[in-house]
Amino acid sequence: MSNAPVLDRISVVLVEPQNDINIGSVVRACKNFGITSIRLVNPAKAHPPQILISAPRATDLIDKLERYNSLDEALADCTLALGMTARQRRNKRLYVEPRGAAADVVKTAHEQAESGQRVAIVFGREDSGLSNECLDRCNALVTIPTNPDYSSLNLAQAVLLMLWEVHRVATDSPIKRLPEHIAQAHGDDPLASHEQMDRMVQHAERVLAQVGFLKEDSHQHMMSTIREMFKRAGLDTREVAIWHGIFSQTEWALKNPDKLQAEEE
Ligand code: SAH
Repeated sequence: MSNAPVLDRISVVLVEPQNDINIGSVVRACKNFGITSIRLVNPAKAHPPQILISAPRATDLIDKLERYNSLDEALADCTLALGMTARQRRNKRLYVEPRGAAADVVKTAHEQAESGQRVAIVFGREDSGLSNECLDRCNALVTIPTNPDYSSLNLAQAVLLMLWEVHRVATDSPIKRLPEHIAQAHGDDPLASHEQMDRMVQHAERVLAQVGFLKEDSHQHMMSTIREMFKRAGLDTREVAIWHGIFSQTEWALKNPDKLQAEEE
């Protein structure tokens, strides 16, 4: 999948990042999701060799890290700036959630394709987050919903989650669900567990070996196809029991050809 050009008009802004390993992880997340502009406002260190440790093969982005002395300078050419914050403070600020925010980020970035203006997503420092002065400079704030008792994400993980949403919108990735029969039982019986399926496949293998169906050169490949077929079917416990019945009966018939003939007569 190629990168959507709109991603080139979005900047990730890190205010006073303290740890180069974190900066590297942010660089990596940006590269993963096609963001090419990373702006550092007064980083504590930002030594490229240190950053590279957690962003292998991302020298292109590391070489073009931009440094600023203030958030105002970093946001100068941006029309929309969203501040990322774990804590919803009590004052009157505009809070949005990541999925909706991502749609707006991409829409705004699309609309200003001609003007050269940018959209910024702003992240705070690891120990104290964004100051009120920084929040004042954002049009709205985004909080990634988390466990309320442990809401603060690692800086790079917050970047990763937000950019994943942005990338999904920018590349128009469709939501693809599992077929219903895989995710939930279709009758009264529960879906078979992995272990139940595995025992059934092993039973199939024993029987197929006995009837000479599995050839030496294609044995593994055939069993992997059969296993995949059963897994795709999403069998329930009763259906697995039926297959065991079929295999057991086949084994019995192989061992007792005379009795089988007598039954038929
Ligand atoms: N201890 C700080 C958190 C800093 S984490 C605090 O309590 O504010 C570093 C940055 O990651 C934050 O400034 C914010 O930009 C981002 N971040 C972490 N958790 C987040 C969340 N749940 N939602 C949105 N942004 C988050």
